[in-house]
Amino acid sequence: MVDTQLRDRDISDSRVLDAMARVPRELFLPAELRARAYEDAALSIGEGQTMSQPYMVARICAELALHGGEHVLDVGTGSGYQAAVLAELAAEVDTIERIPALAGRARASLVEAGYERVRVHVGDGTRGLPDGAPFDGIAVAAAARGVPPALYDQLKPRGRLVIPVGKRRVQHLQVVIRSAEGPAVARSVPCRFVPLVGDGGFG
Ligand code: SAM
Repeated sequence: MVDTQLRDRDISDSRVLDAMARVPRELFLPAELRARAYEDAALSIGEGQTMSQPYMVARICAELALHGGEHVLDVGTGSGYQAAVLAELAAEVDTIERIPALAGRARASLVEAGYERVRVHVGDGTRGLPDGAPFDGIAVAAAARGVPPALYDQLKPRGRLVIPVGKRRVQHLQVVIRSAEGPAVARSVPCRFVPLVGDGGFG
């Protein structure tokens, strides 16, 4: 997976490649899907949701440009896999999921895989996590029509928000940096994520 799906494309951050090699992706999937864990695809995790394709997980992590000491918020816990990869790259990780059943399963998977220090919350991630803010980085794994203002407001100065922005079926992964002049936006790769639900999301 790391060689053919990540390095051979455009993921060059060695910390991200090492993190992706270390986290056992199969532990974040239902038993019947574990044999497919390293496919180049998003996989169903129930409740109409998916575990993101490995490349998109790596891409989001790379865009956050983490060095190891940061505090990161992961919006859209899903299976918990992205949160585990972020835990390999940053000092502290909070993750928030709106569907309680998924949050519960993700919490159990994170413990099984040895990432019990990741804090799993249930709630509307479009509002961020005010009690944990500010964050050095915020990763959003669901598509929004625009950048939810609460998420930008919860970034530290020079903090990075990585979020798929666009229409319901196709988006661009945007990298938004908090600056004194306001949001600095760099467009990135086209992508396709399930919708972010809630204020600032879809519906
Ligand atoms: N990063 C996840 C992983 O590694 O498995 C994949 C996330 S999945 C593509 C998107 C997740 O975002 C879904 O689990 C969905 O329920 C969640 N979601 C959608 N809107 C949300 C919101 N407003 N707050 C929190 N979670 C939300």
